[in-house]
Amino acid sequence: MPYPGELASKAAHAEIIRNPDVTAFLQECNYLTPPSDEECQAVAARFVPPLSAQVRTPAFVIAVDGSNHESSIDDKLPSTKIGYIKIGAVLIDLQQYGSLKVGKYVDPFRVAELQNQASALAFSIPSANIRWGNQPTVRESLRAWIDQQFYGPRTRFNAADPTTSLRSTLFHLAARRPGGLGTGDPYRLKIHKCPQCGNGPVELEDVPEQQYCPFCGAEVYPTDCLRVWEEAQEYQSNGVVMSRLMLILEHLVPFHYMRFLFKTAPLALSEMAFFVDGPLAIFGTAAWLHRSFMIFLQEVNRKLAKHGCHPLLMIGLQKTGQIVDHVSLIERHVSNDRLLAVDDEYRYKYILAGREPSRGGFGFETYYGQDLIYKTPTGRIFVFALPYPYPSKDEPGVDFVEEKVQFGHYPQLPTAIALINQLESDLYKNAVVPIALAHRYTAISLEPGGKVLDLLTRRALNA
Ligand SMILES: [Zn+2]
Repeated sequence: MPYPGELASKAAHAEIIRNPDVTAFLQECNYLTPPSDEECQAVAARFVPPLSAQVRTPAFVIAVDGSNHESSIDDKLPSTKIGYIKIGAVLIDLQQYGSLKVGKYVDPFRVAELQNQASALAFSIPSANIRWGNQPTVRESLRAWIDQQFYGPRTRFNAADPTTSLRSTLFHLAARRPGGLGTGDPYRLKIHKCPQCGNGPVELEDVPEQQYCPFCGAEVYPTDCLRVWEEAQEYQSNGVVMSRLMLILEHLVPFHYMRFLFKTAPLALSEMAFFVDGPLAIFGTAAWLHRSFMIFLQEVNRKLAKHGCHPLLMIGLQKTGQIVDHVSLIERHVSNDRLLAVDDEYRYKYILAGREPSRGGFGFETYYGQDLIYKTPTGRIFVFALPYPYPSKDEPGVDFVEEKVQFGHYPQLPTAIALINQLESDLYKNAVVPIALAHRYTAISLEPGGKVLDLLTRRALNA
């Protein structure tokens, strides 16, 4: 996922910094400053060589990455907008991948051929000034449309079976939600309140029929539980909703695959690795999902362990963000083949300087995985995350803040490192081949790809 504004003009940036009002303002602010050489050396000393272990890397990798785009439906109607979200998934057979390497390098032409084994899930979104069906507002249109897309045959592993839809996966996850909003029944979920009258919670079933609020009779949808509708705008761009939904989908889609495999061929999960883009965390209104993910992963791993199989490997790989920025400052001081688990003390001291530590530890309400920094034997540096080894952060008798950074709790760590070493590439900075491919497959560049989408939008709406 690229960040908007990444390519903003450097000249404009310098001009802002030189402005005397801005200089005075900055003097009153707390923000991260580049560490001194001594500090860098102290930081580098915390990195340790990773435990060496004989591991077998998984047979398959599934990498997921998303992108989004918003366009006006007509040049004469610039404020009437529709959005697209694309989630790409690439499946790579690592045996086949081995044959792609020519000496130290990966053959880009043969990598390109792998893209034939990719699939993309595209979601369109009514964004501003567009209503769908008979819905009275953009917000209502958005809710109805998101639900239909989650339920639709395109998200199903078996088009004829609605229980294989992405919406059913959401039911399975929401049922595991701890506290009063969980149901314990994978065919029922609760939305915290009715978006129309505000009463709640409202319990819904995994059925094709339209369901209604028992308090006011308004239409309610299972996907309302993601609460993306709360940020919907009627007349302005819904870029916030789109990026929120895209980030949710980047995590939901791998869990959708996992749920399907867990049901049909559970032991196969120990032969797979899932790569997602960014930290293992869900921010904003759907942050509750992170707890369901933790619980689901625990169930999967318990079953795999019972059969003597390796735990499932899921890796969040960060290409940008605060840790990546921090790493670029200290990188040259760190020796090759070194690893660090980012603990809270380190994070609040060097990465989030000036921020108040959060209750219960960093990311208590949002993260389901631990961030690690790894410098490979060839000197490339990766920021990645592995799922926490517990189903909850307040396990009795467990000091989670301490425990989450103990390498020994992550049996998948040696495999993750071996896999990163195997998949690192000269082609893509800070990325491994599968995630770069997933990204390339979904990438909607503003030019000229975006133009194609603009044309499609117009054609779809005129049809
Ligand atoms: Zn209601």
